Amino acid sequence: MKDVRRIIEGHFASASKFCTLSASIVSAVFALAGCRGPELLPFRPQAGDLVSYVPVSGRVVALTFDDGPNEPYTSQVLDVLDRESVRATFFLVGTNVERSPDTVRRMVQAGHAIGNHSYDHPRFDQISYAARRDEIRRGADAIAAVTGVRPVLFRDPFGIFGPDEESGTNAVGVTASDRRYRGLAGLCRAENQINVGVSVHAYDWHNDPPEVMSEYMLRRVSPGAILLLHDGHDVQLGFNRAVAVKVLEQVLAALKARGYTFVTVPELIARAEAPQAAFDRGVSLLGIGAPDGAVAPGGRLLLRCYWSVPAEAESSALVGFVHLRQRGHMLAQSDNVLSDGSDMWAQVLEVPLVVPDRAAPGACELSVGATWREGTGSARRLAVSSSLSVHRRAVLLPYAVRIAAPSPNTAGTDSSSTLHPPTSTLHLPAPTAAGAGRS
Ligand SMILES: [Zn+2]
Repeated sequence: MKDVRRIIEGHFASASKFCTLSASIVSAVFALAGCRGPELLPFRPQAGDLVSYVPVSGRVVALTFDDGPNEPYTSQVLDVLDRESVRATFFLVGTNVERSPDTVRRMVQAGHAIGNHSYDHPRFDQISYAARRDEIRRGADAIAAVTGVRPVLFRDPFGIFGPDEESGTNAVGVTASDRRYRGLAGLCRAENQINVGVSVHAYDWHNDPPEVMSEYMLRRVSPGAILLLHDGHDVQLGFNRAVAVKVLEQVLAALKARGYTFVTVPELIARAEAPQAAFDRGVSLLGIGAPDGAVAPGGRLLLRCYWSVPAEAESSALVGFVHLRQRGHMLAQSDNVLSDGSDMWAQVLEVPLVVPDRAAPGACELSVGATWREGTGSARRLAVSSSLSVHRRAVLLPYAVRIAAPSPNTAGTDSSSTLHPPTSTLHLPAPTAAGAGRS
């Protein structure tokens, strides 16, 4: 495990001269008004962990690309990154590396980070433990043969983790609780790999126009996010990724205009700060992402909560909740089951909150907490181990949400409020019943 840290820190040290961390802190909607608790330890992923988001304080994100190299599209991606002076992380498929080694050399020379995306890109839930181990090793071998360096970053094909048991020959019949990450965690630990997840997908395997994909991503990007685009498709050389190249150009331009800078995944991990809040049983809230801009009454506030839930936390009984209050009155709330028996480091939870029309312009409080289900109708709040204040049953985060004064021209015409009327989220159960009756 120490090897992983040393390699990552070494990479960061050699690359830091390229990084210009934006001094600006989150702007209009979320203003950081306090400090994190002093007893919170910095986020320090180890081999075997899944990293889907990294808590950082500045406007910095990591762009990642999967399934390459795949010409001519990977070279087009590299051209765009060169032109924009942006460095990214490429998760490569071993067979594709063997067929396009020059492209991989160009990545290394340009300072991009390289991760392993398996040798043949199989579904990990359909092959044996030994075959998964073989895929990780052969993928790393293919990269090391070209670059001279064995990668310490891994991303599993299709994001499917595979079964838990070492002796299993097939995943068919495994239970839901061990279908997800548990098996791959042990394998990655044994193979000295950090598994890199995703905060924001482009969903570029759909046939949407590039503008639709860009808009989807841009609504969800926040500091510390790991973004995913595809420069390849599985082991198919020449698969058309022209749309992804366009999405890249659009997303880069928009995020630069917002003051974002771009780093590789090792650099992002090296900048990690403490989680937002820590609860008992190892559960922590790594951070919250929200789009830029104030939200108008009747509008939708799209939050993304990045929870870290260890396997031993019996997470199928764990419910996270978000409350939006103004002057003591609840404006909107949402309860969400956090995960289903996985030991993922971070689980991206998208929470749309509709701000009611009655909300007055001005500041609101956002509070976040978690409860354990304890049989029918009962729940228990997790103890908080950070120094954040607790308001009733929720952790009060040091955030202020600003409700914009409605403009005479736009009041009530926000497209998101048209699509998602306020009543759809305002009739959730009261927080004291969090978890009760939910499946
Ligand atoms: Zn893939």
